[in-house]
Amino acid sequence: MSSYMVVCFAVFGVSYVVNMTFITVFYHRGLTHSAVTLSPFIQKLVQYTGNWFTGLDPKGWSCMHRMHHLYSDTPADPHSPVQFGIFGVLFAQLKSYERTLFRLQRGDKRYCDVVADIPYGVHWLNRKKLWYLPYIIHGVIALLPGLIGGWWALGLCYWAGMMSHPIQGWMVNSLGHAIGYRNFKTNDQSRNNTFVAWTVMGEGFQNNHHQYPSSAKFSFRWFEFDPGYLICWILDRCGLIEIQRELLIPSETVKRPVVI
Ligand SMILES: [Zn+2]
Ligand SMILES: [Zn+2]
Repeated sequence: MSSYMVVCFAVFGVSYVVNMTFITVFYHRGLTHSAVTLSPFIQKLVQYTGNWFTGLDPKGWSCMHRMHHLYSDTPADPHSPVQFGIFGVLFAQLKSYERTLFRLQRGDKRYCDVVADIPYGVHWLNRKKLWYLPYIIHGVIALLPGLIGGWWALGLCYWAGMMSHPIQGWMVNSLGHAIGYRNFKTNDQSRNNTFVAWTVMGEGFQNNHHQYPSSAKFSFRWFEFDPGYLICWILDRCGLIEIQRELLIPSETVKRPVVI
């Protein structure tokens, strides 16, 4: 493999890990479920820069995701394949996200109450209808290597790493509730999808996660691997977040045979 390809893969890897650290660790396990406690520095980082890094509003994302847990696979679920079909989820999650931001800004009690504990509002990028700015900035950064030296693949790898969240979201929200095995008899259609779990940093273990939403670790059986928890563990060691160890999937449950 040429050194250029190695650099391309490295850029994709680093940008993907940065992107996923924001979404699965900071937004999901931290802000939404308090499975990890964010240090004051990380809290500010998420509040002020999360939307710039990911293109996604932290409060809006958190609100939509909590609604997903509250109404999982019912007609009120923002993005259920049971309601919208596997491919319909791609569009449904976008429309639900837009609706969530709109309702939060309007002060709709049903939405605001769900995220009343998050002590800040919708990011100004969304309040000013400038949601596209982060996408433009990441797009310009992605184009620079090509314009400067013809390294178009390098820019593409950066873009794919930083901005693939619609695809990641679709894989988790759709396949994670339609295709895969179940460890627990939850009141929804959540599944553990190994391919999605390995590619989207553990998020594909939806069945495990719906059973234990407050556990920072989504993996449960010996062959399940949650890369997102590995990032949590490293950041915990660095003092940037704190894993709520008493909320981890109970060890006695891990020994129990599979339910389904
Ligand atoms: Zn789910
Ligand atoms: Zn969740």
